Amino acid sequence: MTANAGPATDATAAAQADAPAEATQVLVLNSGSSSVKYQLLDMADSTRLATGLVERIGEETSRVTHAPLATGGAKREREQPIADHEEALRAVTEELTADGLGLDSPKLAAIGHRVVHGGQRFSGPTVIDREVLAEIERLIPVAPLHNPANITGIRTAMGLRPDLPQVAVFDTAFHTTMPEHAARYALDVETADAHRIRRYGFHGTSHAYVSRETAKLLGRDVTDVNVIVLHLGNGASASAVEGGRCVDTSMGLTPLEGLVMGTRSGDIDPAVTFHLRRVAGMSVDEVDELLNKKSGLIGLCGDNDMREIGRRMGEGDRAAQLAFEIYVHRLRKYVGAYTAVLGRVDAVAFTAGVGENSAAVREASMRGLGALGIELDAVRNSVRGSSARLISADTSRVAVAVVPTDEELEIATQTYALVSA
Ligand code: AMP
Repeated sequence: MTANAGPATDATAAAQADAPAEATQVLVLNSGSSSVKYQLLDMADSTRLATGLVERIGEETSRVTHAPLATGGAKREREQPIADHEEALRAVTEELTADGLGLDSPKLAAIGHRVVHGGQRFSGPTVIDREVLAEIERLIPVAPLHNPANITGIRTAMGLRPDLPQVAVFDTAFHTTMPEHAARYALDVETADAHRIRRYGFHGTSHAYVSRETAKLLGRDVTDVNVIVLHLGNGASASAVEGGRCVDTSMGLTPLEGLVMGTRSGDIDPAVTFHLRRVAGMSVDEVDELLNKKSGLIGLCGDNDMREIGRRMGEGDRAAQLAFEIYVHRLRKYVGAYTAVLGRVDAVAFTAGVGENSAAVREASMRGLGALGIELDAVRNSVRGSSARLISADTSRVAVAVVPTDEELEIATQTYALVSA
């Protein structure tokens, strides 16, 4: 892909001016049911050229927000009805074209799509063809909320640039290395297999990126380091990563299992659902909505934003205090469990909105874990920052770190590595 590196005579300079520019840009698309998030990156130096969001697709009041990072121009926002994903991608193209970065640019090497569920089959980034798309469709029953929107985004992008490689980067891929004893539920095997019921895990691009960045922070090779990654955003998951390979993670068949989240319950006795059905007379859809949308922090105290919960705790609000304590208690249980799973832990890494920003959650979840070799440094923990940093005491056997995640960069990196290989 690189141009010839001979002496630049007038003739070669003229020829180079006509030659197509080297394709080093990757457009990352994250298509949700009513939104498309995008970023354009130049992988020659991993810089971000543009980022934006189309939201409320299908409504009269759809909104396009675009930040032209390459030109350093002001953020642009417009409201207009956007009927579907095709119109949304056209709006993205218009915005990029206005910055001289159109979807038709010869510099564009590929489009990288975040795809939530790749099942057992997809263990890495995959160039999308008809057969791959069909398999992503076959996985809809295990990801009914996410895969349909991802597929719509892929089809639309393929329609706009059929000549360009389109790459799927799966949220589940990093977790396909989980051993069978961690991935399988103790369910009747025939029933489980007939319906593809097993633990898949999610947030995989983040866990992969953060575990690698943690190793870098420690100045060690990722294959030598065991890390517990705590991805604490509105959705939250923990993973146990042994030498760069995931050996356990807290989300399961769906993102509902595991930690207490913004609106999801996380781990719960499955009999609660029978009880709600039989005794409370709730429908399956109502139970689904209760556990996914109305539980977790919001169900416990009415707020799912940790900043607001912190503010309310400061005012002595008991519901907010209890929600925080339940959240932290679950987190500590997973740290203990994954310490046992890994045997030796080199680092605990906090990431995503809560993990990167809430010193209170980090302090409360790591408190009193000296027996596990974990000691936080209160001052380091309280200092805010935007880059990866250690927050453990010098005497701590286990390093504790804050490592900002960057799922878009990871998707672009994996996409570019695949198409430029
Ligand atoms: P994410 O899903 O990674 O974007 O994380 C979103 C969540 O991060 C929000 O719902 C908040 O709970 C949390 N968050 C963001 N900023 C802060 C902050 N400064 N302090 C505490 N929590 C924060």
